[in-house]
Amino acid sequence: MGRVIAVANQKGGVAKTTTAVNLGIGLAREGKRVLLVDTDPQGSLTASLGYVEPDEIPITLANILTAVINEEEVNPSGGILHHEEDIDIMPGNIELSALEVVMGNVMSRELILKDYIDMMRERYDYILIDCMPSLGMMTINALVAADSVLIPVQAAYLPVKGLQQLIKTILMVKKRLNRGLEIQGILLTMVDYRTNYAKDITAKLRETYGSRIAIFETAIPMSVKAAETSAEGVSIYSHCPKSKVAEAYRNLTQEVLEYEK
Ligand code: ADP
Ligand code: MG
Repeated sequence: MGRVIAVANQKGGVAKTTTAVNLGIGLAREGKRVLLVDTDPQGSLTASLGYVEPDEIPITLANILTAVINEEEVNPSGGILHHEEDIDIMPGNIELSALEVVMGNVMSRELILKDYIDMMRERYDYILIDCMPSLGMMTINALVAADSVLIPVQAAYLPVKGLQQLIKTILMVKKRLNRGLEIQGILLTMVDYRTNYAKDITAKLRETYGSRIAIFETAIPMSVKAAETSAEGVSIYSHCPKSKVAEAYRNLTQEVLEYEK
């Protein structure tokens, strides 16, 4: 049975999508069967894997979730795209925006994505859900569907405030809707090693959350190489295998594999 990890933070631009892609492909390179699920109406994950016009893809997550809502039969291979680096993608696009509104008005609205994800669990070792930058119904659905949450945090400012809101939401979901949900850890991203920020922020996070929330040992360095990959439609391992960012994502992959043991 696959493990489901939501990559979430309501702040945009913190490397959620970049992390979902490179952790996902990192796990695939370790022989794991991986599905990436794009729940962001912007379709950035979909686009960054080479499907540059997500809004023109005929079957996407919005269609699948609409079928779930309408209690129609869902074909598990329906809409799945296969990327050359050995991962599967359930694409997302702008239609998720309208769907999120519909979701708000149906019975068991928090469980819609979970219905789909649970159906997919036996086909994959890991399912990574790339969340949109909000704490709306789609992100709640992702938290309900997941076993754990990975929280990318950009190490360029003190992010404590936004994090409190996110953690509050996660704990609420855990209490009411998904008892087993774990906070797998905070991942520092876009670390600029020319400054002392990363150290300051790690210290601040430790001080604030103490032992309650783990912080990944790996931190992802700031690098233009990471930004280039999305334009190329490939992972950092293909684009620039010897870079520090590639090394960091390989280390993160190992930490995630370890976590399960
Ligand atoms: P999110 O999904 O949280 O909005 P993205 O993964 O889309 O964040 O990243 C935001 C922007 O930062 C993108 O342009 C991406 O290419 C870039 N980026 C991601 N990781 C890094 C990094 N380690 N160093 C520099 N730029 C990065
Ligand atoms: Mg994103």
